[in-house]
Amino acid sequence: MSERSLSMGAIEGQWHDGRSSRARAVRLDRAGDALRIVDAADGSQAFWPLAEVVPSARLGATPRVLRRAGHGQIECADAPELAQWFPSPPSRIEALADWLERRRTAILVAALGAGLLVFAFLRIGVPWAAAEIAARLPEAVEDEVSRQTAAVLERAGYLRASGLPQARQDALRARFAALVAGQPRHQRMRLHFVGARGLGANAFVLPDGRIYVTDALVRLAGDDDEVLAVLAHEAGHHVHRHGMRQAIESSSVLLIAGLAFGDVSGSSVAVALPSVLLSRGYSRGHEREADAYAMALLRARGLPPQAFARIMRRLSERAPASDAGPLGYLSTHPPTPERIEAAERAARE
Ligand SMILES: [Zn+2]
Repeated sequence: MSERSLSMGAIEGQWHDGRSSRARAVRLDRAGDALRIVDAADGSQAFWPLAEVVPSARLGATPRVLRRAGHGQIECADAPELAQWFPSPPSRIEALADWLERRRTAILVAALGAGLLVFAFLRIGVPWAAAEIAARLPEAVEDEVSRQTAAVLERAGYLRASGLPQARQDALRARFAALVAGQPRHQRMRLHFVGARGLGANAFVLPDGRIYVTDALVRLAGDDDEVLAVLAHEAGHHVHRHGMRQAIESSSVLLIAGLAFGDVSGSSVAVALPSVLLSRGYSRGHEREADAYAMALLRARGLPPQAFARIMRRLSERAPASDAGPLGYLSTHPPTPERIEAAERAARE
């Protein structure tokens, strides 16, 4: 009985007594105010007053060493009993090191959690905030950003006069006005036909609702329904305020990075909006949203949704991505195979 209870609660250790070169296997337990040391081989016992024993600091999973002057030392694995027998840690630093060591997993999880929070903030929080801000922006801001952006494009020679006959322009304008009549923000939408050498077959909308269509796009289209399909897509970007949302998102990421690195200048971000608008393309999510808007609008007006799939296919075959040069905003429209497939699937429904 006594042997059994002793071995159950005992801690196994190696006693280096400092006299013999060989360590003795021992079992440790507590007997009153003493540490009882039982030789595992012959059962002989020794008692160390707890007050005379100096334990090494607890450091993670490293073995503990119990020293008693003149009696050598006992090495053993850490065990909860040791904390009860020797309650006060040797120093604050060691206690802190031990605390950190034993909470390493918790700290790693916390760091990972903080990283995920930042990631979620950038992926979900910033787009959400950008949409909220864009929806509340005065139209004057959209106007100013668009004016500056158009001036950049003008200087770059992208906005030359259209070579399309006036009658063709008027006819397309009339059909476009009928297409978007009654849609949100439709009063802001205006069509601009441009010669735009260098942009290829392209169309894009600025935040104030002006939609630029290149002559090359009108010529590429098999019929006016296909032109209207592209315009419906641009109307979708306008209705959902994708341009300003994208610009604000990119700017807030810049602003956050600026705050993090000590370069805090909100005004420089505001000044940078037009170039941000031009340099950043729409996200895939925005493109999908504009596509879905276009398909729904075409159906609602009794126009063939196939026209959208056809012009997408034509645009992808023309590979206009190379035409737009460094202006990401203007080069995002080349339809990806995924978008073409989605359009063709939707057109068949
Ligand atoms: Zn688009």
